Amino acid sequence: MTLRIGVIGTGMIGQDHIRRITHVLSGAEITAVTDADLDAAKQVAAELPGADVMDTGDAVVRSERVDAVIVTSWGPTHEEFVLAAIAAGKPVFCEKPLATTTEACRRIIDAEVASGRRLVQVGFMRRYDSAYRALKSVIESGEIGAPLLYYSGHRNPDVPPSYTRDMAIVDTAVHDFDVVRWLLDEELRAIRVLAAKPNSLGGDLQDPLLMVVETASGVLVTVETSVNIRYGYDIRGEVVGETGTAALADRNLVDVRSAGRVNSAVPADWRERFVAAFDTEFQEWINTIAAGKAPTGPSSWDGYAATAVCDAGVQALHSGERVEIALGEKPALYGH
Ligand code: NAP
Repeated sequence: MTLRIGVIGTGMIGQDHIRRITHVLSGAEITAVTDADLDAAKQVAAELPGADVMDTGDAVVRSERVDAVIVTSWGPTHEEFVLAAIAAGKPVFCEKPLATTTEACRRIIDAEVASGRRLVQVGFMRRYDSAYRALKSVIESGEIGAPLLYYSGHRNPDVPPSYTRDMAIVDTAVHDFDVVRWLLDEELRAIRVLAAKPNSLGGDLQDPLLMVVETASGVLVTVETSVNIRYGYDIRGEVVGETGTAALADRNLVDVRSAGRVNSAVPADWRERFVAAFDTEFQEWINTIAAGKAPTGPSSWDGYAATAVCDAGVQALHSGERVEIALGEKPALYGH
């Protein structure tokens, strides 16, 4: 069966996901699109034989030609469309964030639990990256003993003028928070945020930031965000265990040795670094949904937990205090 997908939001990442589903992956086709800018949606649909342009996201969800929904609109609109998909009983892939407030995430969890089955997957694509998957395998094998410390480096060459200091947490470090929860398989319980000597290339921005996050079992996690570092988009990760360490390796296929130096490339941006992870994320989602199964990727609970850590992080950034993260009881629908 070919999965018929409706896309809400045909901006930058919406178009990228449409491209991968149409030209790279198998088993799915785009049958409906919409955007707040309908002309933009029409332009995208012009390249998609068989895709209807709908006036609203709600119309995409309700379309009889749509089996599953992808939400790639602006963050504050995610709750409305995810709730509509749950009400319609349709699987929905929602780009991060699941919703911009913990209350909104809770409403989604309540609706999904009431529906009795998992329908929602959240777009934390790092879980599909081959290097992160290899790192998780090493941790789970016990080869380096129990994890004690984890360092997560998130470096961007630059950010647009619209980037605010809170975005270092809610837009940037949110990926680090999710991947740490997944790698260590436990919740995060408190966060402190320290601002380093500012990078003069960042204007008034507080950059870099260093976050110290405690997990439920007491592992200490440091997250560095450096978003004006110019040299490239560089994602670091290293776990220190009781008897060894494991780190994400550099991913070059070739190192060039010339003129007395060894040169290896650094990705230009997140699209280059995670292109294969996005492809794997969507192919696995399509295969699972087309087979009539519940999604197996990041759940509404994961989306909620990430938003809760971000909320605490923003509070810690503003107050300079250690802020605790209280998630409450995890519904059985989301596993142990
Ligand atoms: P974008 O280029 O601004 O695209 C968002 C699109 O949604 C815009 O075309 C916008 O239209 C449209 N939109 C807004 N409200 C809408 C509504 N009510 N109904 C239909 N369309 C609506 O943003 P983006 O960079 O693609 O990001 C989209 C989402 O993906 C964000 O939540 C972002 O955090 C997430 N994202 C995730 C990753 C990742 O690493 N996983 C990377 C990038 C982005 P207008 O411009 O006309 O308002």
